[in-house]
Order: sequence, then structure tokens, then C-alpha cells
Amino acid sequence: MSTNSPSKIVCVGRNYADHAKELGNAVPDTPILFIKPPSSLRALADGIVIPQGLGECHFETELCVRIGTPLKNASREQAALAIDAVTLGLDLTLRDLQNTLKANGHPWERAKAFDGACLLGEWLSPAMLDLAQAEFELQINGVQRQHGHTAQMIFDVVGLVAHISHSFSLCVGDVVMTGTPAGVAALQAGDQLQMRLHTQLGAVDWHTEVLG
Ligand code: ZN
Repeated sequence: MSTNSPSKIVCVGRNYADHAKELGNAVPDTPILFIKPPSSLRALADGIVIPQGLGECHFETELCVRIGTPLKNASREQAALAIDAVTLGLDLTLRDLQNTLKANGHPWERAKAFDGACLLGEWLSPAMLDLAQAEFELQINGVQRQHGHTAQMIFDVVGLVAHISHSFSLCVGDVVMTGTPAGVAALQAGDQLQMRLHTQLGAVDWHTEVLG
């Protein structure tokens, strides 16, 4: 698999109706896209660092895919072939700050693109997963907090990748975070997280914790 670091991480907002609803947002008819820079990347295994003094930092567990072939104005078929790895990630969100930025009509980057805001697990072969029927979970301190199934997505993974490539060229190594299911809430110092992806070869788990 590629070892290229991404030029960007493209994220999708409100891709599960139950999550849009829990934050009081409308369900979109076009994908809501935003970008995290490469400087936001951190391995899940290195632990979670919450920025201090900026209010609540929410977890958002998301299925992530990596691009292995450059894509621009891609078809679904081209997008499906270009996905060369899959994993789970956390789209960390400074929710209080995001709400202030949204209320003022400002961009979200301060709430979504800070250092360490994109936590990724080790990459797996996409052959382990049916992207249309993939299930994942987050437990914190032994309690299930999020449970997602890609069949519940408003915009499916392959369609999203194709759609994104009509707005932004996707480069080798770029990552797409495909949105979070319901259950988001604030992380606390010392929280122990277990993220589980159900694959055709069995469950794959990642463990991480909130440092500090
Ligand atoms: Zn997200």
C-alpha cells in the first residue's frame, strides 16, 4: 500500500440522518464538505490531545478511505477502483467553538483542523470490507457510544469519493472521512476508547485514550 502522506483529508458533514438530527441540523441534499490539513493528522495509537481552554471537544467516529489513484471528475466505477485502503478515524470537533463560528457565519477550520484533529487507525486492505455494508462501533470506558452502518449513510462511500473529485482533485494518499453516526459527545481526560470495525475477516479493534 501507498506510504504517501495526504495532500488533504476531505470530510463529510451530516452524512447520517440521526446525527444531523441530534445537532438540530437539516439533512442535506448535497454532501457538506470540509477539509482538514495534513498537519491535523495523528495516529490513534499516539493518543488524543484535547486543545485546552476552547470548550467541549467531541468525538466523531468515521469510516475512512484512502485514495490510491489520482481522481478528477471521476465516475462511480473509477472512484471504487481508486480506494486502496480503509480504516476508522476520529474527526475531533471543538463543538462550542464550531457553534460560535456557525452562528457568526464563519468557516469551521478553527474547530475542525487543529493539530491532532484527525486521528486515524492503521490502514487495512479494502478487500476486507463491503463498503456498502460496513459496520463500526465506538466504546468509551466500556460503554457503547456510537454504532454506524454504511447502509444508513445519506451519501454512500463510493458516490461520495466520485462526488468530491468533481470539486477537488483527489491525490494519491488523500483521505476521505465519510461522516459520523449519532452519539457524539465531549471527550474527558483519561477516557479509554475502543473503536471496532466489522470486516469480512472478523472484527478489527483500535484502542486509544485521551491524554492529560
Ligand atoms: Zn465528522
